Amino acid sequence: MNKFESLISLLNVIQHLAKPVLIAGAGITGVSCAIALRDAGVSFRIVNKGFRIGGRMASHSVRDSGTQFDGRVFDTGASYFTASDPDFASVVSELELAGIVQPWTDTFHFADSEGIAGVTMGPMRYRAELGIRSVVEYLARDLVIEEGEIAEVPANERLALCMPTPQAARIFPRASELSTAVWEPVISVSLLFDQVYWSAFDGIFVNQDAQVTWIANDGARRGDQAPALVVHMSSVLSAGHLVNAVEVIPIAIAAAKRIMGFDADPVWTHAHRWTFAKPLEGTTSGEPNFILGDVSRAGDEFSDRPRVEAGWLSGRDLGRALADLA
Ligand SMILES: Cc1cc2nc3c(=O)[nH]c(=O)nc-3n(C[C@H](O)[C@H](O)[C@H](O)COP(=O)(O)OP(=O)(O)OC[C@H]3O[C@@H](n4cnc5c(N)ncnc54)[C@H](O)[C@@H]3O)c2cc1C
Repeated sequence: MNKFESLISLLNVIQHLAKPVLIAGAGITGVSCAIALRDAGVSFRIVNKGFRIGGRMASHSVRDSGTQFDGRVFDTGASYFTASDPDFASVVSELELAGIVQPWTDTFHFADSEGIAGVTMGPMRYRAELGIRSVVEYLARDLVIEEGEIAEVPANERLALCMPTPQAARIFPRASELSTAVWEPVISVSLLFDQVYWSAFDGIFVNQDAQVTWIANDGARRGDQAPALVVHMSSVLSAGHLVNAVEVIPIAIAAAKRIMGFDADPVWTHAHRWTFAKPLEGTTSGEPNFILGDVSRAGDEFSDRPRVEAGWLSGRDLGRALADLA
């Protein structure tokens, strides 16, 4: 390579490195990536499909229920989160100080198809009084998030895809080569009753039931003790009803009655379809993120434990890695 060619090559590298970052997705991963880039002084913008940010950390408002609960939110995606990494734990402490999150419980019930079978203890789970979406909204409070759907890899920006692989692959087909995760659907059914028909509980892991995997006491989770349950349907059952998710509502009601042992019908219901809800346990990798030329990936699936915390860590680490290249 002569001096002229070396100069051109150097200029190409500089041009590449000077490109700003376009973050696609404003769930916990994209927002965490944006914060890391902002803190490092790297130029970026962040675009989210849909006008509500938060992705799978979603809360749905009750409307037209004819009850005093209109306007109240149910958590329809992530149920709670845990904090084991010290850096994430300090973010959670900040959220707690700001009144956004509260320690919820370390004890859930477990059940089988016949009914509740016992209690199980685990790490502290955190809840958000205003709905779990408020966590992402609070973290993103100083960011400008554009509403829009990224459809292709841009020419003049480095693209950080912060969403599940099946969604990322629509924009960048090679994304599917970068992940081993197998994604499962979940339909989440919110049920509001006229009064509480059950004994105190926070959540129930339902094992070996064909229809239901989890029932949350959304009244305990919100802290208002409203007669509110959220039922997560099994991935097999959900997969059969993705076209018309409301079909599972009667199945969810019957399953809640069967497992929890009460007999009353809800006054308001809502079904939310998550086509790409969670990676199947054991199919994810421990890689924190990927950078492939001008396209990079982050998300909960780049972890052995695909959760809210993993998304935050993956986004933060990708932001730092992109900043190191700049
Ligand atoms: C039913 C359910 C239960 C769960 N339970 C728990 C739990 O109890 N505890 C826990 O820790 N985790 C739980 N999770 C997982 C948790 O929600 C995720 O780990 C976390 O929210 C991942 O965040 P993310 O930012 O990586 O992805 P997402 O939250 O999916 O965010 C991706 C964002 O990208 C946007 N987007 C997609 N395509 C485009 C595009 N083309 N252009 C622009 N934007 C785009 C989407 O609108 C979305 O806002 C649960 C998830 C579900 C669905």
